[in-house]
Amino acid sequence: MQNTEQIIIEKVKGAYEAGKKGAAAGTVASYIPELAKSDGSDFGICVMQRSGSIIGFGDTDRYFSIQSISKVIILAVALRMLGDAEVFSGVQMEPSGDSFNSILKLDTASSKPYNPLINAGAIQVTGDLAGNVTFDEMLSFAREFCLDDSVHINEAVYHSEASTGDRNRAIAYLLKSKGVLKGDPMETVDLYFRMCSLNVTAKSLAGLASVLSNNGVDIRTGRRLLDDYHTRVINTLMFTCGMYDGSGEFAVKAGLPAKSGVGGGICAPARYGMGIGTYGPALDAHGNSVGGIMALEYLSNALHMHMLQ
Ligand code: GLU
Repeated sequence: MQNTEQIIIEKVKGAYEAGKKGAAAGTVASYIPELAKSDGSDFGICVMQRSGSIIGFGDTDRYFSIQSISKVIILAVALRMLGDAEVFSGVQMEPSGDSFNSILKLDTASSKPYNPLINAGAIQVTGDLAGNVTFDEMLSFAREFCLDDSVHINEAVYHSEASTGDRNRAIAYLLKSKGVLKGDPMETVDLYFRMCSLNVTAKSLAGLASVLSNNGVDIRTGRRLLDDYHTRVINTLMFTCGMYDGSGEFAVKAGLPAKSGVGGGICAPARYGMGIGTYGPALDAHGNSVGGIMALEYLSNALHMHMLQ
């Protein structure tokens, strides 16, 4: 008879095979030119268990651009340093229903961005930090939350992003003009671009997911990195808003909190204190990793991890 560990390894392998098979069906992001260099057939999945044991298949140590998943780290740092009352005085907790970099509702519906996991909301939260926290300090936080000291900036992606990021600059200036953004718009956007340009691996994302699935605790040391309520806030926003305009469908099918990035990563805190990180740079029309979604749906169903069932 198989023990639980063997069963989990087998299911993660099944998830890898599902993700790898589907991976190449998507398209690698090209609106940030440096991202277009990724290989759409790459795929990897890494699971960090509550025991600390790590299960990985495929490209689990390949570095890629964290992109939007950095929004989770920015939010975690802001909640820890400023508290939730301060953070949510400038941003809401609602799904937006618009694309991740939309500027539309900021001017027509509400000057407070809908949530911290879309560009406007992440820029708003970054503005709470810019001027008080340096990029080097943010990098240390990123390493701490990802349980991975190898997280580093990819300068080429940063320059690529900064030279094509006019829409994000427009968002920052609009927020400033409405009196919502606290920091300097240029300084804020620069910090945001640098955070989006961090290089991580599927294993780093499994580490971040592990902290979130263990109520904010680093399972390797027992050290608390985030308090229970802040962890709940992040996980809930990931569940409702983390997968762009595909969040609803992903919630039905996989039922996990998750945050994706256009670099091809997905970070998914799951049941049983499991942290899952996937990497597959071929994206669907919403900007989510095709292989990552397939693998997470597979694993969630195989291990009965849907949060609402
Ligand atoms: N740095 C990207 C941007 O602001 C983030 C894209 C993403 O992963 O959603 O456009």
